[in-house]
Amino acid sequence: MMSPNFLPEFLKWMDGIDQIGIFIRERARCKKMIEEADVIVMLDFNQANRLGEAENLVVSSKAHKIIIDHHLDPGTFAELIISEPTKCATAELVHDIICEIHGKQFMNRPYAEALYVGIITDTGNFEHGNYSSDTLRIVADILDAGIERDKILNLIYNNFSKERLRLQGYALNKRMVVIPEFKTAYIFLTKDDMKEYNHLKGDTEGFVNMPLSIKDIYFSALFIEKDNHIKLSFRSKGKFPSNEFASRYFGGGGHLNASGGEYCDTLENTIEYFLKVLKENVWRFENAL
Ligand code: 5GP
Repeated sequence: MMSPNFLPEFLKWMDGIDQIGIFIRERARCKKMIEEADVIVMLDFNQANRLGEAENLVVSSKAHKIIIDHHLDPGTFAELIISEPTKCATAELVHDIICEIHGKQFMNRPYAEALYVGIITDTGNFEHGNYSSDTLRIVADILDAGIERDKILNLIYNNFSKERLRLQGYALNKRMVVIPEFKTAYIFLTKDDMKEYNHLKGDTEGFVNMPLSIKDIYFSALFIEKDNHIKLSFRSKGKFPSNEFASRYFGGGGHLNASGGEYCDTLENTIEYFLKVLKENVWRFENAL
């Protein structure tokens, strides 16, 4: 297994996580894995640029390529594309495929634990309305497999540093801008902010959801300053297509209500551009809910 980028801290306790090659940290090992592969299965993304530095190697590899994913509009860089946007998590789709081939014989504890983590992290612990009755039937099987639910919830949601909580407070207090006339709120964090609060990968997860709890705010954006670009996350309520917005203006994509992208400019210019394009899209908030 391989990830193009670092894994979030809140997943580091998981079984087998140490075996995952991190491309930007272990280039030689990961390059060898790609070169020697007969089949490459790509999970939870559907655009080649999400492979980051591994993009060229994977795309030009002679291996058979399979995408298993739940985002809209898959790219064409695989021979087999199993794409099911109605699934709340790619983990749920992987589980469906395994069950179709083998039945439920693998539903033991480590399997159930991984599946549970996939489902709760992609549904915001069942807070986002992207799960179905099928998901809940799977969760029933997961619970029957005897996972330690409270322990897992604590490891994921109650395992952060105190600086992360302070960063959250700072982001809301000093870095959130609410624009009622655009039904939008955004949060921005500079590199210095992240450094001051000893930011670890995954610490800002969930920040972008917070402004949506404000009455009459339908769209939320999070800007994070990186070394060479600005990383954006978007969330929306109702019918506002955050993924279209992300792909049209920020080279990104995702789901209707949860998406992201990037912009190669300063934080200041990115926010200015965001406000300009947002203004052009304000009409979309009419009857969005
Ligand atoms: P998050 O805001 O949690 O990082 O991402 C939310 C959703 O947007 C995820 O489904 C993720 O795959 C998608 N997403 C985030 N950033 C990008 C991006 O740069 N490009 C694309 N295509 N999708 C993104």
